[in-house]
Amino acid sequence: MEDGKPVWAPHPADGFQLGTIVDIGADSLTIEPLKQKGKTFLAPINQVFPAEDDPNKHVEDNCSLMYLNEATLLNNVRVRYSKDKIYTFVANILIAVNPYYDIPKLYSPETIKQYRGRSLGTLPPHVYAIADKAYRDMKVLKMSQSIIVSGESGAGKTENTKFVLRYLTTSYGTGQDIDERIVEANPLLEAFGNAKTVRNNNSSRFGKFVEIHFNEKNAVVGGFVSHYLLEKSRICRQGPEERNYHIFYRLCAGAPEDIRQKFHLSSPDTFRYLNRGCTRFFATKDTDKNIMQNRKSPEVEGGCAIKNQSSQTLEHCAELLGLDQEDLRVSLTTRVMLTTAGGAKGTVIKVPLKVEQANNARDALAKAVYSRLFDHVVTRVNQCFPFDSSANFIGVLDIAGFEYFEHNSFEQFCINYCNEKLQQFFNERILKEEQELYQREGLGVNEVHYVDNQDCIDLVEAKLVGILDILDEENRLPQPSDQHFTDTVHNKHKDHFRLTVPRKSKLAVHRNVRDDEGFIIRHFAGAVCYETTKFVEKNNDALHMSLACLVSESKDRFIRELFENSNNSKDVKQKAGKLSFISVGNKFKTQLNILLEKLRSTGSSFIRCIKPNLKMVSHQFEGAQILSQLQCSGMVSVLDLMQGGFPSRAPFHELYNMYQSYMPPKLTRLDPRLFCKALFKALGLNENDYKFGLTRVFFRPGKFAEFDQIMKSDP
Ligand code: ADP
Ligand code: MG
Repeated sequence: MEDGKPVWAPHPADGFQLGTIVDIGADSLTIEPLKQKGKTFLAPINQVFPAEDDPNKHVEDNCSLMYLNEATLLNNVRVRYSKDKIYTFVANILIAVNPYYDIPKLYSPETIKQYRGRSLGTLPPHVYAIADKAYRDMKVLKMSQSIIVSGESGAGKTENTKFVLRYLTTSYGTGQDIDERIVEANPLLEAFGNAKTVRNNNSSRFGKFVEIHFNEKNAVVGGFVSHYLLEKSRICRQGPEERNYHIFYRLCAGAPEDIRQKFHLSSPDTFRYLNRGCTRFFATKDTDKNIMQNRKSPEVEGGCAIKNQSSQTLEHCAELLGLDQEDLRVSLTTRVMLTTAGGAKGTVIKVPLKVEQANNARDALAKAVYSRLFDHVVTRVNQCFPFDSSANFIGVLDIAGFEYFEHNSFEQFCINYCNEKLQQFFNERILKEEQELYQREGLGVNEVHYVDNQDCIDLVEAKLVGILDILDEENRLPQPSDQHFTDTVHNKHKDHFRLTVPRKSKLAVHRNVRDDEGFIIRHFAGAVCYETTKFVEKNNDALHMSLACLVSESKDRFIRELFENSNNSKDVKQKAGKLSFISVGNKFKTQLNILLEKLRSTGSSFIRCIKPNLKMVSHQFEGAQILSQLQCSGMVSVLDLMQGGFPSRAPFHELYNMYQSYMPPKLTRLDPRLFCKALFKALGLNENDYKFGLTRVFFRPGKFAEFDQIMKSDP
């Protein structure tokens, strides 16, 4: 970078702005913005990047730019987005910006046909190009493939996942109903697992890995869906402007009369679990009253009773769950315990619950019923496309990206842990493999270093000392507390590079809370402060004993089977104390490790989805927001690697075919490798700009495009 040359300098809203350097200091630069001549400002040197000569130029593969940095990437994506070109390649990685409107013909059947069998890079960047590459790789390498779709909520992960599934079944299906079933599973899963949130009107509240299985002849034979971490808190509580799962509102609005009768359905605003969030679609009545109410009765001091018995809520609930009304009432308001005190060892007693405890018990029951129902829906979906002649599969992973909100709890902790694992996989695949290619081709370039995040993963999942195991340990204590858990985490990892104690905020002092009510983890994508209130509760999947026993003996076979696995002994005494804890965190850890093992055994492609604005509207590109998404997705480190390496490459024979018509016949008699050597010599290309590998030529950033221009402009 030098005086007078165009540069990208930081801009608070746009991410970057064009300017020129007017003065160079020790660690900062004085910049004159292009749009405001005469007004200069200071910018740190490491946040100023060289710009392309023409800021309006855009390229399909970002690697053909001269300068590979976060600013030129952002600009390339911006220019393309303004022309409805929402997809951009960075080498083999696809960036997809959500257009928030239907771009004509982008996904039409004709477009599907166009991409069939075509190599990456021969047609404009598209999610279909990635799908077809996965298919061709599977076929040629005889190896399963995975496509990892990531991005924040509302970025377009689920839509792009659906396009991939639709593409593969349309192009490579057998035309039988199995193809359609794989695609049709989505509306069902979305009805039970999606909800309106402030970030996305159709937000998936679970992660999924959808496998399409192919037979020996590479035709679709079946599918399989694995699901992760359904958001359970939503079943009982929704934030302002948010809703519960779609299925409830759909049932209330459109169920046939017999089902309405059977399920006692009425308007959503008469249901406590449905009427406390979004008020946009449904007027709310004042039904904000507790089902549980203190009963001032001397015989059960501190206990409670169910309030609205007159409204038949309890009766309907018992009826639908196949339970005796009185049993349900007792189980919701008391807890079964084994006494160990005095002489009455091992006696079962019923302890009345306080209002808050009873409310929790009711919510826990609702969550357990719903989440088991969701598991069941996925199981049934899987039964609809069984496969027994699978040779390979293509799996598509649609799971929430790195999350960083104002308040971060156990859910964010789990999802960010998951993203650390996926980022490590991305590093392995993109950065390691890039270097291996250089080595295989004998390029002799220096090794590129990237930050390994294994230490962060260990902090979470290591045996005994990892945060998940510390949390489980806490859950098993007779009186677990979030505070004690937090203290243990800090004590066990006093000088850990990735972990710090949140600083006492002014707010915290004011509210008189302790300054160590959580912890900060330094993730690859930035530091996140987790508030540990409710970690212990959220980590436990078990119902309290009285309820667990009750539902496992339901008269309704369906309900009974939902709860069968975890409760098979009839003896209350035997069970008490045993099943009081089922770890959510460790279950996720196991699932995640199985998933990663699977991913590692496949070939992989990556799609990075970008949300262009918070308003969810079309044609609005909020640069600063988008820049931070590019950074979080690891794209910036990929660019760093490539800027130092040789990102554009072309096999000798391809160059030969492309340019032979421009050359004198004498040259075209040479074999492709010699042809390229002679050609480059004749053109006087700078030897630092390219390297000859064993099978292909490697170019420095932008040099291939430059070379191509010379060839085509100079007859
Ligand atoms: P995510 O799964 O990442 O949270 P979604 O895939 O649900 O996000 O996308 C959110 C919304 O954005 C969709 O409901 C749709 O309205 C819109 N959208 C996403 N991708 C596209 C696309 N390629 N074309 C048109 N609209 C899209
Ligand atoms: Mg989604």
